[in-house]
Amino acid sequence: MPGVLQEKVAVITGGTSGIGLAIAHRFVREGARVFVTGRDNGRLEAAVKEMGPAVTGVRSDVSHLADLDALYARVREDAGRIDVLVANAGIAADAALGAHTEANVDLTLAVNVKGTLFTVQKALPLLAENASILVVGSSNSVRPNEQLEVYSASKAAVSNLVHNWARQSRERRFRVNVLSPGPTRTPGLVGAAGPDVDRFAEALVPLGRLADAEEIAEAALFLASDASSFVTGAELFADGGYTRA
Ligand code: NAD
Repeated sequence: MPGVLQEKVAVITGGTSGIGLAIAHRFVREGARVFVTGRDNGRLEAAVKEMGPAVTGVRSDVSHLADLDALYARVREDAGRIDVLVANAGIAADAALGAHTEANVDLTLAVNVKGTLFTVQKALPLLAENASILVVGSSNSVRPNEQLEVYSASKAAVSNLVHNWARQSRERRFRVNVLSPGPTRTPGLVGAAGPDVDRFAEALVPLGRLADAEEIAEAALFLASDASSFVTGAELFADGGYTRA
């Protein structure tokens, strides 16, 4: 049986680790041709080796506009269009009030807000009719974390951008949605939060555990595919109930 993304071209930023990598795997299983981006050539090579010939790795930092231009030039040359764009690259590099540094604030906003915005804007000329754009947000967009205040604000900002973009769905012939995970077992989260992360999830997530990245990828597949053909401007919380706790 053909997969639900058969012959679709997908671009996933930050697709070499965690949630982005799980989404790439899931899309490949559904027949998509996938471009994954990241900043590290070694990790890009490993991801391509792991997933096979349907995947192309492109070194590209979303906070550098010239890198995004190079990424989309490569996609144009190799595939000619984008059916599914996943603006996933993001970092949580900040602190609490009293401990912020200019460098951390600038970095968080440059990757999460500026990077997401230009990932989408620069893709516009390549988007196929009825393309699906997924912006990876966070449950912290509505349930801010005082240890990650700028991160939380940055995710609220991208949700707000998507709200505006969704209003343009008809004239731009796209759908655009936010996929907001709750705490998810990824190198990014475990690296930042350390070994207590499971106890934190047990205490605070109504489903009593961290998500696996594969569970977030299932939600991404829904938003990417025609199964969500009438969904635009939504924020889908795949968070085990975290925003409601
Ligand atoms: P991760 O650190 O495991 O992976 C992040 C990926 O993004 C990596 O491949 C990294 O190289 C890439 N990346 C980072 N900065 C980049 C840049 N400037 N340009 C290009 N690529 C860059 O993280 P993850 O936990 O899988 O996070 C993925 C997304 O999910 C992020 O947007 C994050 O904010 C969001 N998120 C994660 C969680 C969680 O608990 N893990 C929860 C909510 C939201």
